[in-house]
Amino acid sequence: MMNERQLFQKYLAPTSLEPMGLQIEKAESSLLFDNHQKPYIDLIGGVSVCNVGHRHPKVIHSIQQQLEKYLHIMVYGELVQSPQVQYAELLCKHLPEHLNCVYFTNSGAEAVEGAMKLAKRFTNRAEIIACHHSYHGSTQGPLSLLGDETYRRAFRPLLPGIKHVWHNDFESLKSITEKTACIILEPIQAEAGVKVPSIEWMQALRKRCTETGCLLIFDEIQTGFGRTGKLWAFEHFGIEPDVLLLAKALGGGMPLGAFISSKEILNSFAANPILGHITTFGGHPVSCAAGKAALEAIIEEDMLKDIAKKEALFLKYLKHPLIKAVRHKGLFMAVELPNFETVIKVIEYGLQRAEKGIFTDWFLFAIDCIRIAPPLIITEEEVIEACQIILEALNNVEQEGNTQG
Ligand code: PLP
Repeated sequence: MMNERQLFQKYLAPTSLEPMGLQIEKAESSLLFDNHQKPYIDLIGGVSVCNVGHRHPKVIHSIQQQLEKYLHIMVYGELVQSPQVQYAELLCKHLPEHLNCVYFTNSGAEAVEGAMKLAKRFTNRAEIIACHHSYHGSTQGPLSLLGDETYRRAFRPLLPGIKHVWHNDFESLKSITEKTACIILEPIQAEAGVKVPSIEWMQALRKRCTETGCLLIFDEIQTGFGRTGKLWAFEHFGIEPDVLLLAKALGGGMPLGAFISSKEILNSFAANPILGHITTFGGHPVSCAAGKAALEAIIEEDMLKDIAKKEALFLKYLKHPLIKAVRHKGLFMAVELPNFETVIKVIEYGLQRAEKGIFTDWFLFAIDCIRIAPPLIITEEEVIEACQIILEALNNVEQEGNTQG
């Protein structure tokens, strides 16, 4: 009989030639436990999904309650489903007044797809702008936006009419014109390795979009739900988007995405043609119940309160000759190392270390950086312990003399 690792290799489609392949039996709070019960401090948090920690009791309770009532009953948009309406109301209460209407999807990519269609439909324009080094998902719409030619080239033809510009670059703003339906960007670029733009640029971007009638669409799929120290990353810049894209932490560990805008803008999906944008499972009742419980937990347990303190703690301990820089906003950090080889050594050390490990990875467009995006509820002791393990790994690299950049 094959063991599960062999079944994984035989039956699951691969996304890379060398998957991490860690076998997780259980996850709780900020810890993952492998099949030998070894704990790992989770510095990835499911790629900014598990903001409230793994298996938060409130989330589990809400899922259990919903399981007693119904699972899927009907395609999205036709029936009044309590978990959807309750969660939509809660989200809107914590957003600017004009972001008052929610379209639920299953995933981030579908939220992006929906928003692209919405912008074209509402503005009656065809051109879309995205940023270099952006990642918005792997389906064909988001892939057309993806800011890296290597990924796009392999899958052409993609959507026409998409321009790429640089994030945080004033020259880029000139590309936004009366022909542009929307610009879609991450307020803080995640897979570029946590790149934070200036407030001045973000405000100029908002101004340019307003002047030209181009919809400003923020992808907060990684940065939402407190990741950067505020509930939404756009709050750091004193501006608001016309459309907000959410997923990942939105479902509290269950699959869920959403694009949120004004009722006026989202009304453009209701007719001409009717049913022009529909989904079977979008806003699944169990996912909405879980997501609502997770957002309530963030608010009721004041999870944003200690983020700055934990961020400062990471910065205090992450000091080593091999650390070239730490780019950060809240509990969203990219630790820049001399090269990819060093990054891989730190990741492997974290996995192989006896008794307790750490779980981290690299960024799609910043392969010389390790990711730090733990559950927001990570304790101060765990922060210090995780840093010590990273430093141990770097000391080993230094001893091996592999410090070539
Ligand atoms: N947007 C951003 C910023 C992402 O990081 C991701 C996924 O990593 C997506 C969109 C796509 O989300 P999903 O994988 O749920 O389709």
